[in-house]
Amino acid sequence: MAADPGSHDATTPAAPVTWPGGYQAAATLGFDMDAEDVALTVDPESRHRLSAMSHQAYGPLTGVPRVLDLLERYEVRATFFCPGYTAERYPDLLRRVRDAGHEIAHHGYLHEAIAGMSRDQEAAVLDRGLEALDRVAGVRPVGYRAPMWETTYASAELLLDRGFAYDSSLMDSDLPYQLAERPGEGARSIVEIPVSWALDDWEQFAFVPELFGPGVIEDPAKSLAMWTAELTEAHRHGSCFTLTVHPFLSGRLGRLRALETLIQTMLTLPGLWLAPARDLAEHVRSLDLTPRVFPQPEIPA
Ligand code: ZN
Repeated sequence: MAADPGSHDATTPAAPVTWPGGYQAAATLGFDMDAEDVALTVDPESRHRLSAMSHQAYGPLTGVPRVLDLLERYEVRATFFCPGYTAERYPDLLRRVRDAGHEIAHHGYLHEAIAGMSRDQEAAVLDRGLEALDRVAGVRPVGYRAPMWETTYASAELLLDRGFAYDSSLMDSDLPYQLAERPGEGARSIVEIPVSWALDDWEQFAFVPELFGPGVIEDPAKSLAMWTAELTEAHRHGSCFTLTVHPFLSGRLGRLRALETLIQTMLTLPGLWLAPARDLAEHVRSLDLTPRVFPQPEIPA
């Protein structure tokens, strides 16, 4: 069962993954469509700050269309993790993402950090996000990425209940793995596509005074060098390169040029499977690996 801590060994690493069709490694581009919501969650009063709101709106108004053009030029399909609030505020944009053939996945409603929420509260946020994506774009997502990458020990069960096929919020591996399964009639399983703070543009570029960000704005050449190093090693090790990009940050011209260079590198690596996270998850689920939810640490008395 999915959340039975006693049946799992916390020291078991993820099993090697074999990739399909002669591929030797995988990569996936995830665009988190955070906009005003991520600011409103941090500080609801920020809605009165027009400039801060406009910084966030750069994503849907300028960044996402540019990202879509870039992906189209290279015929790359990606995953767009969309908060329900963004979907409702920019419905035409979400439908454009859908119509371009990209995957749309769940990313909370108001980009809520669910750590500390009750199980019922977490379930309500999941359902509200699902309703928004359905109402706006007729999408029933199979993928979930927790806002702020904050999940709980209840999350996998809640995702199984709602038919999700994968989560992409955990960091204990760089290989996808089976996160949980529910045997018996109507058997289901859910895969983890792990993430990493080092493969996220937030740490490089997020800067809004008195709201969030590390307080620095890095050179796109630095993130390109970091990400290229991780990409080439993931390729060499048969692993999975999972990049998280926010269009309100990386939609800026110089940063987008760096992303284009990274995509060009991806396309030159032999046997690299560049696909939406949904496709990777579907493959890993088919391998029928043993689930490896690691048990919640106990603090000895
Ligand atoms: Zn986000």
